[in-house]
Amino acid sequence: MSLANGRPFLALPGPSVIPDRVLQAMHQPAPDIYGDALAERTIQIKKDLQTVARTDGDALIYIGNGHAGWEAALNNIVNPGDRLLALETGRFTRGWIDVAERLGARIDTMDFGTANPLDPDRVDNFLRADTNHTIKAVLVVQVDTASSVRNDIKNLRRALDASNHPALLMVDCIASFGCERFDMDDWGVDVTVSACQKGLMTPPGLAFNHINDKAWAVRQHATQVTGYWDWAPRRDPEAFFMNFYGTAPTHHLFGLAEALTMILREEGLETVFKRHAVLAKAVSAAVDGWATNGPLHCNIADPSHRSHAVTTIQTGNCDADALRHWCETQAGLTLGVGLSLEGPSNPPKSNLFRIGHMGHVNPPMILGTLATIDAGLKALGIAHGQDALARASRVVADGP
Ligand SMILES: *Cc1c(COP(=O)(O)O)cnc(C)c1O
Repeated sequence: MSLANGRPFLALPGPSVIPDRVLQAMHQPAPDIYGDALAERTIQIKKDLQTVARTDGDALIYIGNGHAGWEAALNNIVNPGDRLLALETGRFTRGWIDVAERLGARIDTMDFGTANPLDPDRVDNFLRADTNHTIKAVLVVQVDTASSVRNDIKNLRRALDASNHPALLMVDCIASFGCERFDMDDWGVDVTVSACQKGLMTPPGLAFNHINDKAWAVRQHATQVTGYWDWAPRRDPEAFFMNFYGTAPTHHLFGLAEALTMILREEGLETVFKRHAVLAKAVSAAVDGWATNGPLHCNIADPSHRSHAVTTIQTGNCDADALRHWCETQAGLTLGVGLSLEGPSNPPKSNLFRIGHMGHVNPPMILGTLATIDAGLKALGIAHGQDALARASRVVADGP
Protein backbone atom coordinates (compact mmCIF):
# COMPACT_ATOMS: atom_id res chain seq x y z
CA MET A 1 0.00 0.00 0.00
CA SER A 2 1.20 3.50 -0.80
CA LEU A 3 0.73 6.63 1.31
CA ALA A 4 1.36 8.92 -1.64
CA ASN A 5 -2.14 10.34 -2.01
CA GLY A 6 -2.02 13.93 -0.88
CA ARG A 7 -0.37 16.89 -2.49
CA PRO A 8 2.64 15.59 -4.45
CA PHE A 9 5.89 17.42 -3.81
CA LEU A 10 8.64 17.86 -6.39
CA ALA A 11 11.88 18.61 -4.57
CA LEU A 12 13.70 19.06 -7.88
CA PRO A 13 16.43 21.60 -8.59
CA GLY A 14 14.23 23.10 -11.29
CA PRO A 15 11.61 23.46 -12.34
CA SER A 16 10.72 24.39 -8.79
CA VAL A 17 7.38 24.59 -7.01
CA ILE A 18 5.09 27.14 -8.65
CA PRO A 19 3.09 29.17 -6.12
CA ASP A 20 -0.68 28.94 -6.64
CA ARG A 21 -0.70 32.74 -6.90
CA VAL A 22 1.66 32.61 -9.87
CA LEU A 23 -0.52 30.00 -11.58
CA GLN A 24 -3.64 32.06 -10.87
CA ALA A 25 -2.02 35.23 -12.22
CA MET A 26 -1.48 33.38 -15.50
CA HIS A 27 -5.10 32.25 -15.66
CA GLN A 28 -6.59 35.10 -17.62
CA PRO A 29 -7.57 35.96 -21.18
CA ALA A 30 -4.93 37.03 -23.69
CA PRO A 31 -4.06 40.69 -23.33
CA ASP A 32 -3.72 43.28 -26.09
CA ILE A 33 -0.08 43.05 -27.11
CA TYR A 34 -0.32 46.59 -28.50
CA GLY A 35 -1.79 48.03 -25.29
CA ASP A 36 -0.14 50.15 -22.63
CA ALA A 37 -0.84 47.75 -19.77
CA LEU A 38 1.47 45.03 -21.06
CA ALA A 39 4.16 47.55 -22.01
CA GLU A 40 4.09 49.06 -18.52
CA ARG A 41 4.16 45.63 -16.93
CA THR A 42 7.22 44.73 -19.00
CA ILE A 43 9.04 47.88 -17.93
CA GLN A 44 8.34 47.01 -14.28
CA ILE A 45 9.51 43.40 -14.76
CA LYS A 46 12.78 44.58 -16.30
CA LYS A 47 13.32 46.92 -13.34
CA ASP A 48 12.53 44.11 -10.91
CA LEU A 49 14.99 41.81 -12.67
CA GLN A 50 17.66 44.50 -12.26
CA THR A 51 16.83 44.62 -8.55
CA VAL A 52 17.19 40.85 -8.15
CA ALA A 53 20.62 40.95 -9.84
CA ARG A 54 21.52 44.22 -8.07
CA THR A 55 22.56 45.98 -11.21
CA ASP A 56 21.93 49.15 -13.14
CA GLY A 57 22.80 47.17 -16.28
CA ASP A 58 20.03 46.22 -18.64
CA ALA A 59 17.87 43.15 -18.08
CA LEU A 60 16.94 41.46 -21.35
CA ILE A 61 14.24 38.79 -21.61
CA TYR A 62 14.27 35.82 -23.99
CA ILE A 63 11.53 33.28 -24.59
CA GLY A 64 13.44 30.14 -23.79
CA ASN A 65 15.04 28.01 -21.10
CA GLY A 66 18.45 28.32 -19.51
CA HIS A 67 20.14 26.98 -22.64
CA ALA A 68 18.60 29.89 -24.56
CA GLY A 69 20.09 32.27 -21.99
CA TRP A 70 23.53 30.71 -22.58
CA GLU A 71 23.19 30.98 -26.33
CA ALA A 72 21.93 34.57 -26.18
CA ALA A 73 24.91 35.66 -24.11
CA LEU A 74 27.54 34.00 -26.29
CA ASN A 75 25.91 35.01 -29.57
CA ASN A 76 26.62 38.63 -28.68
CA ILE A 77 30.19 38.04 -27.53
CA VAL A 78 31.86 35.27 -29.51
CA ASN A 79 33.42 35.87 -32.90
CA PRO A 80 34.99 32.89 -34.71
CA GLY A 81 38.45 32.18 -33.33
CA ASP A 82 37.91 33.99 -30.02
CA ARG A 83 39.48 32.43 -26.96
CA LEU A 84 37.41 31.87 -23.81
CA LEU A 85 38.31 30.47 -20.41
CA ALA A 86 35.75 28.11 -18.84
CA LEU A 87 35.93 27.21 -15.15
CA GLU A 88 34.49 23.80 -14.36
CA THR A 89 33.18 22.81 -10.94
CA GLY A 90 30.76 20.04 -11.85
CA ARG A 91 29.25 19.80 -15.26
CA PHE A 92 27.11 22.83 -15.91
CA THR A 93 29.80 24.89 -17.61
CA ARG A 94 30.09 22.04 -20.12
CA GLY A 95 26.79 22.81 -21.83
CA TRP A 96 27.75 26.45 -22.11
CA ILE A 97 31.11 25.47 -23.64
CA ASP A 98 29.30 23.45 -26.32
CA VAL A 99 27.45 26.55 -27.45
CA ALA A 100 30.67 28.56 -27.53
CA GLU A 101 32.45 25.93 -29.59
CA ARG A 102 29.67 25.86 -32.15
CA LEU A 103 30.02 29.61 -32.48
CA GLY A 104 33.69 29.04 -33.34
CA ALA A 105 35.33 29.86 -30.02
CA ARG A 106 38.47 28.16 -28.77
CA ILE A 107 38.01 27.12 -25.16
CA ASP A 108 40.59 26.79 -22.42
CA THR A 109 39.13 24.78 -19.55
CA MET A 110 40.28 24.82 -15.95
CA ASP A 111 38.86 21.88 -14.02
CA PHE A 112 38.43 22.25 -10.27
CA GLY A 113 36.88 18.84 -9.78
CA THR A 114 33.38 18.07 -8.61
CA ALA A 115 33.72 18.47 -4.85
CA ASN A 116 35.20 21.94 -4.50
CA PRO A 117 34.64 25.51 -5.62
CA LEU A 118 36.97 27.17 -8.09
CA ASP A 119 40.31 28.41 -6.82
CA PRO A 120 40.73 32.12 -7.68
CA ASP A 121 44.52 31.94 -7.29
CA ARG A 122 44.78 29.37 -10.06
CA VAL A 123 42.62 31.56 -12.27
CA ASP A 124 44.80 34.55 -11.43
CA ASN A 125 47.94 32.64 -12.44
CA PHE A 126 46.35 31.45 -15.64
CA LEU A 127 45.31 34.95 -16.63
CA ARG A 128 48.70 36.44 -15.77
CA ALA A 129 50.24 33.99 -18.22
CA ASP A 130 47.95 35.39 -20.93
CA THR A 131 50.13 38.47 -21.36
CA ASN A 132 48.63 39.41 -24.74
CA HIS A 133 45.14 39.39 -23.26
CA THR A 134 43.80 36.99 -25.85
CA ILE A 135 41.17 35.56 -23.53
CA LYS A 136 37.99 37.44 -24.24
CA ALA A 137 35.73 36.14 -21.50
CA VAL A 138 35.69 33.89 -18.45
CA LEU A 139 32.67 31.57 -18.10
CA VAL A 140 31.63 30.31 -14.69
CA VAL A 141 28.54 29.12 -12.80
CA GLN A 142 27.62 30.59 -9.43
CA VAL A 143 26.02 27.30 -8.39
CA ASP A 144 26.75 24.08 -10.23
CA THR A 145 23.47 22.19 -10.11
CA ALA A 146 25.19 18.80 -10.55
CA SER A 147 27.79 19.05 -7.76
CA SER A 148 25.82 21.63 -5.69
CA VAL A 149 28.93 23.71 -5.10
CA ARG A 150 28.68 27.49 -4.80
CA ASN A 151 31.52 29.47 -6.33
CA ASP A 152 32.64 32.74 -4.75
CA ILE A 153 32.13 35.17 -7.62
CA LYS A 154 33.30 38.19 -5.63
CA ASN A 155 36.66 36.52 -5.03
CA LEU A 156 36.91 35.49 -8.65
CA ARG A 157 36.54 39.15 -9.63
CA ARG A 158 39.42 39.99 -7.27
CA ALA A 159 41.55 37.47 -9.16
CA LEU A 160 40.64 39.04 -12.49
CA ASP A 161 41.46 42.47 -11.12
CA ALA A 162 44.71 41.28 -9.54
CA SER A 163 45.91 39.92 -12.85
CA ASN A 164 44.79 43.15 -14.53
CA HIS A 165 43.12 41.13 -17.22
CA PRO A 166 40.33 42.76 -19.27
CA ALA A 167 38.33 39.56 -19.94
CA LEU A 168 34.59 39.78 -19.48
CA LEU A 169 33.23 37.93 -16.48
CA MET A 170 30.17 35.92 -17.55
CA VAL A 171 28.25 34.14 -14.81
CA ASP A 172 25.53 31.48 -15.09
CA CYS A 173 23.17 32.15 -12.17
CA ILE A 174 20.39 29.93 -13.45
CA ALA A 175 20.25 27.73 -10.32
CA SER A 176 20.95 30.51 -7.86
CA PHE A 177 19.01 33.51 -9.16
CA GLY A 178 16.69 34.70 -6.40
CA CYS A 179 18.10 32.09 -3.97
CA GLU A 180 21.68 33.11 -3.28
CA ARG A 181 23.16 36.54 -2.75
CA PHE A 182 24.38 37.94 -6.05
CA ASP A 183 25.64 41.48 -6.49
CA MET A 184 26.29 41.96 -10.19
CA ASP A 185 27.60 45.53 -10.10
CA ASP A 186 29.45 45.34 -6.80
CA TRP A 187 31.13 42.08 -7.82
CA GLY A 188 32.01 43.37 -11.28
CA VAL A 189 30.09 40.78 -13.27
CA ASP A 190 29.68 41.82 -16.92
CA VAL A 191 27.10 39.31 -18.14
CA THR A 192 24.64 37.38 -15.97
CA VAL A 193 22.60 34.51 -17.39
CA SER A 194 19.53 33.33 -15.54
CA ALA A 195 16.07 31.86 -16.07
CA CYS A 196 12.64 31.95 -14.44
CA GLN A 197 11.97 28.35 -13.42
CA LYS A 198 14.15 27.96 -10.36
CA GLY A 199 14.37 30.69 -7.71
CA LEU A 200 11.84 32.82 -9.60
CA MET A 201 9.11 30.18 -9.22
CA THR A 202 7.64 30.60 -12.72
CA PRO A 203 7.02 27.82 -15.28
CA PRO A 204 10.05 27.23 -17.55
CA GLY A 205 10.07 29.50 -20.59
CA LEU A 206 11.91 32.75 -19.85
CA ALA A 207 15.66 33.32 -19.84
CA PHE A 208 17.45 36.52 -18.90
CA ASN A 209 20.69 38.25 -19.77
CA HIS A 210 21.84 41.11 -17.59
CA ILE A 211 24.55 43.13 -19.32
CA ASN A 212 26.70 46.06 -18.25
CA ASP A 213 28.34 48.78 -20.38
CA LYS A 214 31.56 46.78 -20.78
CA ALA A 215 29.65 43.82 -22.24
CA TRP A 216 27.63 46.15 -24.44
CA ALA A 217 30.85 47.66 -25.80
CA VAL A 218 32.12 44.19 -26.72
CA ARG A 219 28.80 43.49 -28.45
CA GLN A 220 29.50 46.42 -30.82
CA HIS A 221 32.25 44.29 -32.39
CA ALA A 222 30.17 41.12 -32.73
CA THR A 223 30.44 39.79 -36.27
CA GLN A 224 27.97 36.92 -36.25
CA VAL A 225 25.19 37.98 -33.90
CA THR A 226 21.77 37.02 -35.29
CA GLY A 227 18.48 38.86 -34.99
CA TYR A 228 16.67 36.91 -32.34
CA TRP A 229 19.63 36.64 -29.96
CA ASP A 230 20.90 40.18 -30.51
CA TRP A 231 20.94 42.25 -27.32
CA ALA A 232 20.49 45.48 -29.31
CA PRO A 233 16.74 45.54 -30.05
CA ARG A 234 15.91 44.29 -26.57
CA ARG A 235 18.13 46.87 -24.94
CA ASP A 236 16.80 49.82 -26.96
CA PRO A 237 13.42 48.65 -28.28
CA GLU A 238 12.03 50.95 -30.94
CA ALA A 239 8.64 49.34 -30.53
CA PHE A 240 7.24 47.20 -27.72
CA PHE A 241 7.53 43.94 -29.67
CA MET A 242 11.29 44.51 -29.99
CA ASN A 243 11.59 43.68 -26.27
CA PHE A 244 10.92 40.10 -27.35
CA TYR A 245 11.76 40.26 -31.06
CA GLY A 246 8.20 39.19 -31.74
CA THR A 247 5.09 38.43 -29.73
CA ALA A 248 5.53 38.91 -26.01
CA PRO A 249 5.34 35.81 -23.77
CA THR A 250 2.16 37.29 -22.31
CA HIS A 251 1.17 34.74 -19.68
CA HIS A 252 4.71 34.08 -18.58
CA LEU A 253 4.97 37.80 -17.93
CA PHE A 254 1.82 37.68 -15.78
CA GLY A 255 3.26 34.82 -13.76
CA LEU A 256 6.71 36.34 -13.45
CA ALA A 257 5.31 39.71 -12.36
CA GLU A 258 3.43 37.99 -9.55
CA ALA A 259 6.51 36.03 -8.48
CA LEU A 260 8.65 39.18 -8.46
CA THR A 261 6.00 40.96 -6.37
CA MET A 262 6.12 38.12 -3.84
CA ILE A 263 9.92 38.22 -3.73
CA LEU A 264 10.65 41.95 -3.84
CA ARG A 265 7.57 43.73 -2.49
CA GLU A 266 6.22 41.22 0.03
CA GLU A 267 8.88 38.95 1.49
CA GLY A 268 11.88 41.10 0.53
CA LEU A 269 15.01 39.84 -1.21
CA GLU A 270 17.11 39.78 1.98
CA THR A 271 14.50 37.65 3.73
CA VAL A 272 14.30 35.36 0.71
CA PHE A 273 18.08 34.85 0.91
CA LYS A 274 17.89 34.15 4.65
CA ARG A 275 15.05 31.67 4.21
CA HIS A 276 17.08 29.80 1.61
CA ALA A 277 20.15 29.86 3.86
CA VAL A 278 18.28 28.38 6.83
CA LEU A 279 16.50 25.71 4.81
CA ALA A 280 19.75 24.73 3.07
CA LYS A 281 21.42 24.49 6.46
CA ALA A 282 18.62 22.23 7.66
CA VAL A 283 19.19 19.94 4.67
CA SER A 284 22.94 19.95 5.32
CA ALA A 285 22.38 19.19 9.00
CA ALA A 286 20.17 16.22 8.19
CA VAL A 287 22.61 14.79 5.63
CA ASP A 288 25.52 15.26 8.03
CA GLY A 289 23.38 13.46 10.62
CA TRP A 290 22.75 10.52 8.30
CA ALA A 291 26.47 10.50 7.50
CA THR A 292 27.42 9.72 11.11
CA ASN A 293 26.51 6.07 10.49
CA GLY A 294 26.22 4.78 6.95
CA PRO A 295 26.98 5.63 3.34
CA LEU A 296 25.09 8.90 2.78
CA HIS A 297 27.02 12.16 2.73
CA CYS A 298 27.02 15.59 1.11
CA ASN A 299 28.99 15.76 -2.14
CA ILE A 300 30.47 19.07 -0.99
CA ALA A 301 32.38 18.42 2.23
CA ASP A 302 32.84 22.03 3.35
CA PRO A 303 29.48 23.43 4.51
CA SER A 304 30.50 26.97 3.56
CA HIS A 305 30.73 25.95 -0.10
CA ARG A 306 27.35 24.23 -0.23
CA SER A 307 24.67 25.87 -2.32
CA HIS A 308 21.55 27.33 -0.73
CA ALA A 309 19.47 26.14 -3.68
CA VAL A 310 20.34 22.47 -4.21
CA THR A 311 22.13 19.68 -2.31
CA THR A 312 23.81 16.72 -3.98
CA ILE A 313 24.01 13.61 -1.82
CA GLN A 314 26.25 10.62 -2.39
CA THR A 315 24.84 7.26 -1.34
CA GLY A 316 28.02 5.18 -1.39
CA ASN A 317 27.20 1.69 -2.67
CA CYS A 318 23.49 2.12 -2.02
CA ASP A 319 21.10 2.53 -4.89
CA ALA A 320 19.94 6.15 -4.92
CA ASP A 321 17.44 5.35 -7.64
CA ALA A 322 15.74 2.81 -5.36
CA LEU A 323 15.51 5.42 -2.62
CA ARG A 324 14.07 7.98 -5.02
CA HIS A 325 11.63 5.37 -6.29
CA TRP A 326 10.47 4.56 -2.75
CA CYS A 327 9.98 8.25 -1.94
CA GLU A 328 8.00 8.83 -5.12
CA THR A 329 5.77 5.77 -5.13
CA GLN A 330 5.28 5.31 -1.39
CA ALA A 331 5.21 8.91 -0.26
CA GLY A 332 4.53 11.26 -3.19
CA LEU A 333 7.94 12.95 -2.95
CA THR A 334 9.95 13.39 -6.15
CA LEU A 335 13.68 13.88 -5.59
CA GLY A 336 16.22 15.07 -8.14
CA VAL A 337 18.14 12.44 -10.10
CA GLY A 338 21.89 12.38 -9.79
CA LEU A 339 23.75 13.94 -12.72
CA SER A 340 26.94 12.12 -13.50
CA LEU A 341 30.05 13.68 -12.06
CA GLU A 342 33.18 12.71 -13.88
CA GLY A 343 36.35 11.75 -12.07
CA PRO A 344 37.78 8.50 -10.73
CA SER A 345 36.65 9.04 -7.14
CA ASN A 346 33.05 9.84 -8.07
CA PRO A 347 30.25 7.31 -7.87
CA PRO A 348 28.00 6.62 -10.88
CA LYS A 349 24.90 8.74 -11.03
CA SER A 350 22.82 5.86 -9.63
CA ASN A 351 24.65 6.49 -6.34
CA LEU A 352 23.75 10.17 -6.23
CA PHE A 353 20.56 12.11 -5.75
CA ARG A 354 19.72 15.78 -5.31
CA ILE A 355 17.31 17.76 -3.19
CA GLY A 356 16.12 21.03 -4.69
CA HIS A 357 15.35 23.65 -2.04
CA MET A 358 14.89 26.67 -4.24
CA GLY A 359 12.05 29.14 -4.58
CA HIS A 360 8.68 28.56 -2.97
CA VAL A 361 9.77 26.32 -0.07
CA ASN A 362 9.29 26.53 3.68
CA PRO A 363 10.01 24.35 6.74
CA PRO A 364 7.12 21.89 6.40
CA MET A 365 8.11 21.23 2.79
CA ILE A 366 11.80 20.78 3.59
CA LEU A 367 11.45 19.01 6.95
CA GLY A 368 8.78 16.81 5.32
CA THR A 369 11.20 16.01 2.52
CA LEU A 370 13.95 15.10 4.96
CA ALA A 371 11.63 13.01 7.13
CA THR A 372 10.35 11.18 4.06
CA ILE A 373 13.90 10.37 2.95
CA ASP A 374 14.62 9.21 6.52
CA ALA A 375 11.61 6.88 6.29
CA GLY A 376 12.84 5.61 2.94
CA LEU A 377 16.24 4.78 4.42
CA LYS A 378 14.53 2.80 7.17
CA ALA A 379 12.18 1.04 4.75
CA LEU A 380 15.04 0.02 2.48
CA GLY A 381 17.38 -0.95 5.31
CA ILE A 382 20.02 1.62 4.35
CA ALA A 383 22.22 2.47 7.35
CA HIS A 384 21.93 6.04 8.59
CA GLY A 385 22.61 8.16 11.65
CA GLN A 386 19.56 8.47 13.89
CA ASP A 387 19.53 12.15 14.79
CA ALA A 388 19.33 13.66 11.30
CA LEU A 389 15.80 14.99 11.72
CA ALA A 390 16.51 16.38 15.17
CA ARG A 391 19.49 18.25 13.74
CA ALA A 392 17.38 19.69 10.92
CA SER A 393 14.59 20.85 13.19
CA ARG A 394 17.18 22.45 15.50
CA VAL A 395 18.39 24.53 12.57
CA VAL A 396 14.84 25.66 11.79
CA ALA A 397 14.19 26.40 15.47
CA ASP A 398 17.32 28.55 15.65
CA GLY A 399 16.24 30.44 12.53
CA PRO A 400 18.29 32.98 10.62
C1 LIG B 1 19.05 24.46 -14.84
C2 LIG B 1 20.38 25.00 -15.19
C3 LIG B 1 20.78 25.22 -16.52
C4 LIG B 1 19.95 24.80 -17.70
O1 LIG B 1 18.70 25.38 -17.74
P1 LIG B 1 17.64 24.78 -18.76
O2 LIG B 1 16.42 25.59 -18.46
O3 LIG B 1 17.48 23.34 -18.44
O4 LIG B 1 18.13 25.00 -20.13
C5 LIG B 1 22.00 25.79 -16.76
N1 LIG B 1 22.84 26.12 -15.74
C6 LIG B 1 22.50 25.90 -14.45
C7 LIG B 1 23.47 26.27 -13.39
C8 LIG B 1 21.27 25.33 -14.14
O5 LIG B 1 20.96 25.08 -12.87
